[in-house]
Amino acid sequence: MSERIELLPEHVANQIAAGEVVQRPASVVKELLENAIDAGGTEIQLIVKEGGKTLIQVVDNGAGMNRADAELSVVRHATSKIRKAEDLFEIHTMGFRGEALASIAAIARLDLQTRNGKDDLGTHLKMMGGTRESVEETVIPQGTSISVKNLFFNIPARRNFLKSSKVEFRHVLEEFQRVALAHPEVSFKMTHNDAQFLNIPESNLRRRIVNLFGSRMNDQLVPVGEETQVVRVGGFICKPEYAKKSRGMQFFFVNNRFVKNPYLHHAIMNAYEGLLRPDTLPGYFIFLEVPPDTIDINIHPTKTEIKFENEQTVYAILRSA
Ligand code: ADP
Ligand code: MG
Repeated sequence: MSERIELLPEHVANQIAAGEVVQRPASVVKELLENAIDAGGTEIQLIVKEGGKTLIQVVDNGAGMNRADAELSVVRHATSKIRKAEDLFEIHTMGFRGEALASIAAIARLDLQTRNGKDDLGTHLKMMGGTRESVEETVIPQGTSISVKNLFFNIPARRNFLKSSKVEFRHVLEEFQRVALAHPEVSFKMTHNDAQFLNIPESNLRRRIVNLFGSRMNDQLVPVGEETQVVRVGGFICKPEYAKKSRGMQFFFVNNRFVKNPYLHHAIMNAYEGLLRPDTLPGYFIFLEVPPDTIDINIHPTKTEIKFENEQTVYAILRSA
């Protein structure tokens, strides 16, 4: 019989895990959008209120879940995406930790409605601070709708730490842009405080960039392409004369997942050398494809940092491209 050591109750463990996964409303947006994509959604809608502080909702027309899967989806380490640790190195879908929904459910009011293609009736599951409030049958179209209300209501220290709605909305928009850029084949709608903010059809990458950042982008974009054994480079860079003083349009994707990598940013800045006015940053939308077993993308809980096996080679190829 142990005297001092106890296992934490599941809902406490989930709240702690939530601290890693969910920093702010934008983190929830990222997880829900990625899940919608993973489920094969082709039309995805994002609805937020007050920068996501009072409401974040994502509606997709993807595969949906049956009742048992819906109930499991909010349990920690419950995932349909990996079965064993080695799968982590092969994974092609966006998410793989199986803790996003459980974490979010632990620190908010989560309302999940879902129906798969086989069942006539869907499932409506309500969670409150990690505790299940109800599960009922419901009539809905195929797909999934998850709404997250009052984020951090039960962790006042985190809630107080949130910035103004305007600032939080900017973060939300950034996450949205990252997902929308990686998936031009999906149509997106976005609503903020009951007003439609964006409505972008499925398209190619160039059109997607223009739809997100304005029609003036069309003249600025220069395609890049390079293919080697180690890496395939694609996407667009902006002409140097359009470089701006502010950060904002620097996007790197590795195997279609947004990443931050100062080293690769440096490779691009290096390639622009002598072409930029002082203190300006060029926009870029670069997509790298590498064999999944040559990267480690799971080194950071929010999965935006990445390690390459052949970092120097990737740098050189990117720079010359
Ligand atoms: P992960 O994405 O890492 O598997 P999550 O907590 O984000 O973990 O989701 C748990 C599981 O719930 C997923 O593996 C998936 O099977 C299911 N799920 C979540 N969101 C959706 C959705 N929008 N449509 C269908 N299934 C979903
Ligand atoms: Mg996920």
